[in-house]
Amino acid sequence: MSYSSGRQFLQLPGPTNVPERVLRAMSRPTIDHRGPECGRLGLEVLEGMKEVFQTSGKVVIFPSSGSGAWEGALTNTLSPGDKILMFEVGQFAALWIQVAVKLGLDVEVVQTDWRHGVDPHVVETKLREDRDHKVKAVGVVHNETSSGVTSQVNAVRAAMNRARHPALLLVDVISSLGSIDYRHDEWGVDVSIGGSQKGLMLPPGLGFNAISEKALAASKSARLPRAYWDWQPMLAQNIHGFFPYTPATNLLFGLQESLNMLREEGLQNVLSRHERHGEATRRAVRAWGLENVALNPKEYSNSVTAIYTPAGHSADELRKVILERFNMPLGTGLGKLQDRVFRIGHLGDFNDLMLAGTLAGVEMGLDIAGVPHRKGGLTAALDYLTESLREVASPAQV
Ligand SMILES: *Cc1c(COP(=O)(O)O)cnc(C)c1O
Repeated sequence: MSYSSGRQFLQLPGPTNVPERVLRAMSRPTIDHRGPECGRLGLEVLEGMKEVFQTSGKVVIFPSSGSGAWEGALTNTLSPGDKILMFEVGQFAALWIQVAVKLGLDVEVVQTDWRHGVDPHVVETKLREDRDHKVKAVGVVHNETSSGVTSQVNAVRAAMNRARHPALLLVDVISSLGSIDYRHDEWGVDVSIGGSQKGLMLPPGLGFNAISEKALAASKSARLPRAYWDWQPMLAQNIHGFFPYTPATNLLFGLQESLNMLREEGLQNVLSRHERHGEATRRAVRAWGLENVALNPKEYSNSVTAIYTPAGHSADELRKVILERFNMPLGTGLGKLQDRVFRIGHLGDFNDLMLAGTLAGVEMGLDIAGVPHRKGGLTAALDYLTESLREVASPAQV
Protein backbone atom coordinates (compact mmCIF):
# COMPACT_ATOMS: atom_id res chain seq x y z
CA MET A 1 0.00 0.00 0.00
CA SER A 2 1.34 3.46 -0.88
CA TYR A 3 1.59 6.36 1.51
CA SER A 4 -1.57 8.37 1.84
CA SER A 5 -0.55 11.95 2.56
CA GLY A 6 -2.18 14.14 5.17
CA ARG A 7 -4.21 13.20 8.17
CA GLN A 8 -6.80 10.47 7.99
CA PHE A 9 -10.38 11.45 8.88
CA LEU A 10 -11.47 8.51 11.02
CA GLN A 11 -15.19 9.28 11.08
CA LEU A 12 -16.39 6.08 12.65
CA PRO A 13 -18.71 6.33 15.63
CA GLY A 14 -15.93 4.52 17.47
CA PRO A 15 -13.10 3.93 17.71
CA THR A 16 -12.71 7.70 17.39
CA ASN A 17 -9.74 9.99 16.80
CA VAL A 18 -7.26 9.80 19.64
CA PRO A 19 -5.85 13.27 20.32
CA GLU A 20 -2.10 13.91 20.42
CA ARG A 21 -2.22 14.71 24.11
CA VAL A 22 -3.66 11.29 24.91
CA LEU A 23 -1.19 9.52 22.60
CA ARG A 24 1.72 11.26 24.28
CA ALA A 25 0.38 10.52 27.75
CA MET A 26 0.29 6.82 26.88
CA SER A 27 3.73 6.61 25.32
CA ARG A 28 5.56 6.07 28.58
CA PRO A 29 7.33 3.10 30.09
CA THR A 30 4.86 0.77 31.80
CA ILE A 31 4.86 1.19 35.57
CA ASP A 32 4.70 -1.29 38.45
CA HIS A 33 1.01 -2.06 38.77
CA ARG A 34 1.42 -2.72 42.50
CA GLY A 35 3.53 0.36 43.16
CA PRO A 36 2.52 3.71 44.67
CA GLU A 37 2.40 5.56 41.34
CA CYS A 38 -0.20 3.14 40.01
CA GLY A 39 -2.22 3.50 43.20
CA ARG A 40 -2.36 7.28 42.80
CA LEU A 41 -3.22 6.93 39.10
CA GLY A 42 -5.98 4.43 39.90
CA LEU A 43 -7.54 6.67 42.54
CA GLU A 44 -7.45 9.68 40.23
CA VAL A 45 -9.06 8.02 37.21
CA LEU A 46 -11.69 6.21 39.31
CA GLU A 47 -12.66 9.57 40.82
CA GLY A 48 -12.62 11.29 37.42
CA MET A 49 -14.91 8.67 35.88
CA LYS A 50 -17.53 9.47 38.54
CA GLU A 51 -17.73 13.01 37.15
CA VAL A 52 -18.25 11.70 33.64
CA PHE A 53 -20.98 9.25 34.72
CA GLN A 54 -22.37 11.97 37.02
CA THR A 55 -22.44 9.65 39.99
CA SER A 56 -21.22 9.71 43.56
CA GLY A 57 -21.34 5.90 43.65
CA LYS A 58 -18.80 3.31 42.62
CA VAL A 59 -17.21 2.96 39.19
CA VAL A 60 -15.10 -0.03 38.13
CA ILE A 61 -12.68 -0.17 35.20
CA PHE A 62 -12.07 -3.42 33.34
CA PRO A 63 -9.24 -4.02 30.87
CA SER A 64 -11.83 -4.97 28.24
CA SER A 65 -13.88 -3.83 25.30
CA GLY A 66 -17.37 -2.48 25.93
CA SER A 67 -18.80 -5.97 25.45
CA GLY A 68 -16.91 -7.12 28.55
CA ALA A 69 -18.59 -4.39 30.57
CA TRP A 70 -21.99 -5.70 29.31
CA GLU A 71 -21.08 -9.08 30.78
CA GLY A 72 -19.91 -7.42 33.99
CA ALA A 73 -23.25 -5.64 34.43
CA LEU A 74 -25.29 -8.82 33.88
CA THR A 75 -23.21 -11.36 35.82
CA ASN A 76 -22.86 -9.19 38.91
CA THR A 77 -26.54 -8.41 39.31
CA LEU A 78 -28.52 -11.43 38.07
CA SER A 79 -28.96 -15.17 38.68
CA PRO A 80 -29.45 -18.05 36.20
CA GLY A 81 -32.96 -17.97 34.72
CA ASP A 82 -33.72 -14.42 35.91
CA LYS A 83 -36.01 -12.52 33.61
CA ILE A 84 -34.68 -9.40 31.90
CA LEU A 85 -36.65 -7.06 29.66
CA MET A 86 -34.61 -5.81 26.70
CA PHE A 87 -35.33 -3.71 23.61
CA GLU A 88 -33.91 -4.55 20.21
CA VAL A 89 -33.53 -0.97 18.99
CA GLY A 90 -30.57 -1.81 16.74
CA GLN A 91 -27.53 -4.01 16.23
CA PHE A 92 -25.76 -3.22 19.51
CA ALA A 93 -28.93 -3.90 21.47
CA ALA A 94 -29.24 -7.18 19.52
CA LEU A 95 -25.67 -8.16 20.47
CA TRP A 96 -26.23 -7.35 24.15
CA ILE A 97 -29.42 -9.46 24.03
CA GLN A 98 -27.33 -12.38 22.70
CA VAL A 99 -24.92 -11.99 25.61
CA ALA A 100 -27.83 -12.16 28.06
CA VAL A 101 -29.20 -15.27 26.32
CA LYS A 102 -25.80 -16.99 26.34
CA LEU A 103 -25.45 -16.29 30.05
CA GLY A 104 -28.65 -18.25 30.68
CA LEU A 105 -31.00 -15.37 31.40
CA ASP A 106 -34.67 -15.47 30.42
CA VAL A 107 -34.72 -12.55 28.00
CA GLU A 108 -37.99 -10.94 26.98
CA VAL A 109 -37.17 -9.03 23.79
CA VAL A 110 -39.27 -6.11 22.59
CA GLN A 111 -38.69 -5.68 18.84
CA THR A 112 -38.65 -2.28 17.16
CA ASP A 113 -38.21 -1.01 13.61
CA TRP A 114 -34.61 0.10 14.44
CA ARG A 115 -35.70 3.67 13.72
CA HIS A 116 -37.06 4.50 17.17
CA GLY A 117 -35.73 4.28 20.69
CA VAL A 118 -37.14 2.48 23.71
CA ASP A 119 -40.80 3.38 24.19
CA PRO A 120 -41.35 4.28 27.88
CA HIS A 121 -45.06 3.35 27.55
CA VAL A 122 -44.09 -0.19 26.60
CA VAL A 123 -41.76 -0.32 29.60
CA GLU A 124 -44.59 0.78 31.87
CA THR A 125 -47.14 -1.64 30.39
CA LYS A 126 -44.78 -4.64 30.53
CA LEU A 127 -43.82 -3.92 34.13
CA ARG A 128 -47.43 -3.34 35.26
CA GLU A 129 -48.34 -6.74 33.75
CA ASP A 130 -45.53 -8.33 35.76
CA ARG A 131 -47.45 -8.34 39.05
CA ASP A 132 -45.26 -10.86 40.86
CA HIS A 133 -42.06 -9.06 39.86
CA LYS A 134 -40.47 -11.80 37.81
CA VAL A 135 -38.58 -9.19 35.78
CA LYS A 136 -35.33 -8.53 37.63
CA ALA A 137 -33.81 -6.02 35.24
CA VAL A 138 -34.55 -3.75 32.30
CA GLY A 139 -31.70 -3.37 29.77
CA VAL A 140 -31.57 -0.26 27.60
CA VAL A 141 -29.02 1.00 25.05
CA HIS A 142 -28.88 4.78 25.54
CA ASN A 143 -27.34 5.67 22.19
CA GLU A 144 -27.86 2.95 19.58
CA THR A 145 -24.77 3.41 17.44
CA SER A 146 -26.07 1.37 14.49
CA SER A 147 -29.06 3.64 13.88
CA GLY A 148 -28.15 6.96 15.49
CA VAL A 149 -31.12 6.78 17.85
CA THR A 150 -30.85 8.02 21.43
CA SER A 151 -33.39 6.64 23.90
CA GLN A 152 -34.79 8.79 26.70
CA VAL A 153 -33.34 7.03 29.73
CA ASN A 154 -34.93 9.45 32.21
CA ALA A 155 -38.36 8.70 30.68
CA VAL A 156 -37.69 4.96 30.99
CA ARG A 157 -36.86 5.45 34.68
CA ALA A 158 -40.04 7.51 35.14
CA ALA A 159 -42.06 4.69 33.53
CA MET A 160 -40.48 2.12 35.90
CA ASN A 161 -41.36 4.36 38.84
CA ARG A 162 -44.96 4.78 37.67
CA ALA A 163 -45.26 1.00 37.47
CA ARG A 164 -43.77 0.82 41.00
CA HIS A 165 -41.55 -1.99 39.81
CA PRO A 166 -38.33 -2.94 41.62
CA ALA A 167 -36.37 -4.14 38.54
CA LEU A 168 -32.83 -2.86 38.11
CA LEU A 169 -32.17 -0.45 35.26
CA LEU A 170 -29.05 -1.39 33.24
CA VAL A 171 -27.96 1.10 30.58
CA ASP A 172 -25.36 0.82 27.79
CA VAL A 173 -23.77 4.29 27.45
CA ILE A 174 -20.78 3.10 25.41
CA SER A 175 -21.32 5.60 22.58
CA SER A 176 -22.91 8.41 24.64
CA LEU A 177 -20.57 8.74 27.60
CA GLY A 178 -18.72 12.04 27.25
CA SER A 179 -20.74 13.06 24.19
CA ILE A 180 -24.45 13.02 25.06
CA ASP A 181 -26.05 14.22 28.31
CA TYR A 182 -26.14 11.30 30.75
CA ARG A 183 -26.77 11.29 34.50
CA HIS A 184 -26.32 8.00 36.31
CA ASP A 185 -27.50 9.19 39.73
CA GLU A 186 -30.16 11.71 38.77
CA TRP A 187 -31.83 9.32 36.33
CA GLY A 188 -31.78 6.47 38.85
CA VAL A 189 -29.73 4.07 36.76
CA ASP A 190 -28.41 0.97 38.54
CA VAL A 191 -25.58 -0.07 36.24
CA SER A 192 -24.17 2.11 33.45
CA ILE A 193 -21.91 0.38 30.95
CA GLY A 194 -19.16 2.36 29.23
CA GLY A 195 -16.21 1.89 26.89
CA SER A 196 -13.05 3.89 26.23
CA GLN A 197 -12.96 4.25 22.44
CA LYS A 198 -15.83 6.63 21.74
CA GLY A 199 -16.56 9.88 23.57
CA LEU A 200 -13.64 9.34 25.92
CA MET A 201 -11.17 9.76 23.03
CA LEU A 202 -9.09 6.71 23.95
CA PRO A 203 -8.06 3.62 22.03
CA PRO A 204 -10.25 0.54 22.61
CA GLY A 205 -9.46 -1.48 25.70
CA LEU A 206 -11.23 -0.13 28.77
CA GLY A 207 -14.74 -1.10 29.92
CA PHE A 208 -16.63 0.61 32.74
CA ASN A 209 -19.48 -0.15 35.11
CA ALA A 210 -20.99 2.63 37.23
CA ILE A 211 -22.84 0.95 40.07
CA SER A 212 -25.76 2.12 42.24
CA GLU A 213 -26.23 1.08 45.89
CA LYS A 214 -29.14 -1.08 44.78
CA ALA A 215 -27.01 -2.85 42.16
CA LEU A 216 -24.27 -3.36 44.71
CA ALA A 217 -26.79 -4.94 47.10
CA ALA A 218 -28.08 -7.16 44.24
CA SER A 219 -24.53 -8.32 43.56
CA LYS A 220 -24.33 -9.86 47.03
CA SER A 221 -27.00 -12.43 46.16
CA ALA A 222 -26.64 -12.66 42.38
CA ARG A 223 -25.59 -16.19 41.36
CA LEU A 224 -24.50 -15.99 37.73
CA PRO A 225 -20.93 -17.39 37.58
CA ARG A 226 -18.34 -14.62 37.40
CA ALA A 227 -14.62 -14.42 38.07
CA TYR A 228 -12.83 -11.89 35.87
CA TRP A 229 -15.89 -9.58 36.00
CA ASP A 230 -16.56 -9.88 39.73
CA TRP A 231 -17.07 -6.43 41.28
CA GLN A 232 -16.21 -7.48 44.83
CA PRO A 233 -12.44 -8.10 44.53
CA MET A 234 -12.26 -5.14 42.14
CA LEU A 235 -13.93 -2.76 44.62
CA ALA A 236 -11.82 -4.11 47.49
CA GLN A 237 -8.58 -3.30 45.62
CA ASN A 238 -9.93 -0.02 44.20
CA ILE A 239 -10.08 1.48 47.69
CA HIS A 240 -6.33 2.05 47.38
CA GLY A 241 -6.37 2.62 43.61
CA PHE A 242 -5.28 -0.94 42.77
CA PHE A 243 -6.81 -3.77 40.76
CA PRO A 244 -7.16 -7.52 41.41
CA TYR A 245 -5.25 -8.30 38.19
CA THR A 246 -2.96 -6.33 35.89
CA PRO A 247 -4.81 -3.23 34.72
CA ALA A 248 -4.28 -1.73 31.24
CA THR A 249 -1.70 0.62 32.76
CA ASN A 250 -0.91 2.72 29.72
CA LEU A 251 -4.57 3.11 28.83
CA LEU A 252 -5.04 4.47 32.35
CA PHE A 253 -2.40 7.12 31.57
CA GLY A 254 -4.46 7.97 28.50
CA LEU A 255 -7.64 8.06 30.57
CA GLN A 256 -6.00 10.42 33.06
CA GLU A 257 -5.22 12.79 30.19
CA SER A 258 -8.63 12.52 28.50
CA LEU A 259 -10.30 13.27 31.85
CA ASN A 260 -8.06 16.35 32.15
CA MET A 261 -9.16 17.44 28.69
CA LEU A 262 -12.87 16.92 29.44
CA ARG A 263 -12.45 18.94 32.64
CA GLU A 264 -10.56 21.75 30.89
CA GLU A 265 -13.22 22.09 28.21
CA GLY A 266 -15.99 21.53 30.76
CA LEU A 267 -18.38 18.57 30.42
CA GLN A 268 -21.33 20.86 29.60
CA ASN A 269 -19.35 22.51 26.80
CA VAL A 270 -18.35 19.11 25.48
CA LEU A 271 -22.00 18.09 25.33
CA SER A 272 -23.07 21.36 23.63
CA ARG A 273 -20.30 20.92 21.09
CA HIS A 274 -21.67 17.47 20.20
CA GLU A 275 -25.20 18.89 19.99
CA ARG A 276 -24.02 21.53 17.52
CA HIS A 277 -22.15 19.04 15.37
CA GLY A 278 -25.11 16.64 15.42
CA GLU A 279 -27.46 19.38 14.25
CA ALA A 280 -25.06 20.60 11.54
CA THR A 281 -24.72 17.03 10.21
CA ARG A 282 -28.49 16.57 10.10
CA ARG A 283 -28.88 19.82 8.16
CA ALA A 284 -26.39 18.52 5.62
CA VAL A 285 -28.35 15.25 5.29
CA ARG A 286 -31.61 17.14 4.78
CA ALA A 287 -30.06 19.43 2.17
CA TRP A 288 -28.70 16.40 0.28
CA GLY A 289 -32.24 15.06 0.29
CA LEU A 290 -31.10 11.83 1.96
CA GLU A 291 -32.94 10.00 4.71
CA ASN A 292 -31.89 9.80 8.35
CA VAL A 293 -32.50 6.37 9.93
CA ALA A 294 -33.74 8.01 13.16
CA LEU A 295 -37.32 9.17 12.69
CA ASN A 296 -38.13 10.99 15.94
CA PRO A 297 -36.34 14.36 16.25
CA LYS A 298 -36.32 13.94 20.05
CA GLU A 299 -34.22 10.81 19.55
CA TYR A 300 -31.64 12.14 17.10
CA SER A 301 -28.17 11.13 18.22
CA ASN A 302 -25.57 13.84 18.69
CA SER A 303 -22.65 11.44 18.38
CA VAL A 304 -23.52 9.52 15.20
CA THR A 305 -25.82 9.99 12.20
CA ALA A 306 -26.95 6.95 10.20
CA ILE A 307 -28.07 7.73 6.66
CA TYR A 308 -29.83 5.61 4.03
CA THR A 309 -28.54 5.63 0.48
CA PRO A 310 -31.42 5.78 -2.06
CA ALA A 311 -32.86 2.39 -3.09
CA GLY A 312 -30.61 0.59 -5.56
CA HIS A 313 -27.46 2.43 -4.45
CA SER A 314 -24.95 0.56 -2.34
CA ALA A 315 -23.88 2.29 0.86
CA ASP A 316 -20.78 0.06 0.97
CA GLU A 317 -19.75 1.18 -2.51
CA LEU A 318 -20.12 4.81 -1.41
CA ARG A 319 -17.98 4.15 1.67
CA LYS A 320 -15.37 2.43 -0.48
CA VAL A 321 -15.17 5.42 -2.85
CA ILE A 322 -14.84 7.85 0.07
CA LEU A 323 -12.15 5.73 1.70
CA GLU A 324 -10.12 5.33 -1.49
CA ARG A 325 -10.39 8.94 -2.70
CA PHE A 326 -10.31 10.84 0.57
CA ASN A 327 -8.82 8.45 3.13
CA MET A 328 -11.92 8.74 5.29
CA PRO A 329 -13.37 5.60 6.87
CA LEU A 330 -17.10 5.97 7.62
CA GLY A 331 -19.21 3.61 9.72
CA THR A 332 -20.72 0.65 7.89
CA GLY A 333 -24.37 -0.41 7.98
CA LEU A 334 -24.67 -3.09 10.66
CA GLY A 335 -26.90 -6.16 10.80
CA LYS A 336 -30.02 -5.66 8.71
CA LEU A 337 -28.82 -2.18 7.70
CA GLN A 338 -25.77 -3.65 5.92
CA ASP A 339 -25.11 -1.92 2.56
CA ARG A 340 -28.22 0.26 2.98
CA VAL A 341 -26.80 2.71 5.49
CA PHE A 342 -23.57 4.62 6.09
CA ARG A 343 -22.80 6.31 9.38
CA ILE A 344 -20.94 9.50 10.15
CA GLY A 345 -19.32 9.57 13.58
CA HIS A 346 -19.14 13.12 14.95
CA LEU A 347 -17.95 12.48 18.46
CA GLY A 348 -14.86 12.60 20.59
CA ASP A 349 -11.96 14.92 19.81
CA PHE A 350 -13.63 16.92 17.07
CA ASN A 351 -14.17 20.50 15.90
CA ASP A 352 -15.95 22.59 13.27
CA LEU A 353 -13.29 22.28 10.59
CA MET A 354 -13.04 18.53 11.08
CA LEU A 355 -16.81 18.33 10.58
CA ALA A 356 -16.52 20.56 7.51
CA GLY A 357 -13.84 18.24 6.06
CA THR A 358 -15.94 15.20 6.88
CA LEU A 359 -19.09 16.53 5.21
CA ALA A 360 -17.07 17.77 2.22
CA GLY A 361 -15.71 14.23 1.79
CA VAL A 362 -19.22 12.77 1.94
CA GLU A 363 -20.59 15.31 -0.54
CA MET A 364 -17.77 14.70 -3.04
CA GLY A 365 -18.13 10.95 -2.50
CA LEU A 366 -21.88 11.03 -3.22
CA ASP A 367 -21.06 12.73 -6.48
CA ILE A 368 -18.25 10.37 -7.55
CA ALA A 369 -20.20 7.25 -6.55
CA GLY A 370 -23.19 8.48 -8.56
CA VAL A 371 -25.57 8.49 -5.60
CA PRO A 372 -28.53 10.74 -6.42
CA HIS A 373 -28.56 13.76 -4.10
CA ARG A 374 -28.85 17.53 -4.14
CA LYS A 375 -25.86 19.81 -3.73
CA GLY A 376 -25.58 22.11 -0.77
CA GLY A 377 -25.33 19.81 2.26
CA LEU A 378 -21.92 21.10 3.24
CA THR A 379 -23.06 24.70 2.77
CA ALA A 380 -26.16 24.13 4.92
CA ALA A 381 -23.97 22.73 7.69
CA LEU A 382 -21.46 25.59 7.45
CA ASP A 383 -24.27 28.16 7.52
CA TYR A 384 -25.60 26.63 10.71
CA LEU A 385 -22.16 26.43 12.32
CA THR A 386 -21.45 30.08 11.49
CA GLU A 387 -24.89 31.23 12.58
CA SER A 388 -24.64 29.46 15.93
CA LEU A 389 -21.21 31.03 16.53
CA ARG A 390 -22.64 34.48 15.84
CA GLU A 391 -25.23 33.83 18.54
CA VAL A 392 -22.45 32.97 20.97
CA ALA A 393 -20.45 36.10 20.09
CA SER A 394 -23.32 38.31 21.22
CA PRO A 395 -22.93 42.14 20.98
CA ALA A 396 -22.12 42.31 24.68
CA GLN A 397 -18.91 40.40 23.99
CA VAL A 398 -17.82 42.19 20.81
C1 LIG B 1 -19.30 0.23 20.35
C2 LIG B 1 -20.49 -0.20 21.09
C3 LIG B 1 -20.55 -1.41 21.77
C4 LIG B 1 -19.48 -2.47 21.67
O1 LIG B 1 -18.32 -2.10 22.26
P1 LIG B 1 -17.01 -3.02 22.02
O2 LIG B 1 -15.98 -2.18 22.67
O3 LIG B 1 -16.87 -3.17 20.55
O4 LIG B 1 -17.24 -4.29 22.71
C5 LIG B 1 -21.68 -1.71 22.49
N1 LIG B 1 -22.71 -0.86 22.56
C6 LIG B 1 -22.70 0.32 21.90
C7 LIG B 1 -23.89 1.20 22.00
C8 LIG B 1 -21.60 0.67 21.15
O5 LIG B 1 -21.61 1.83 20.48
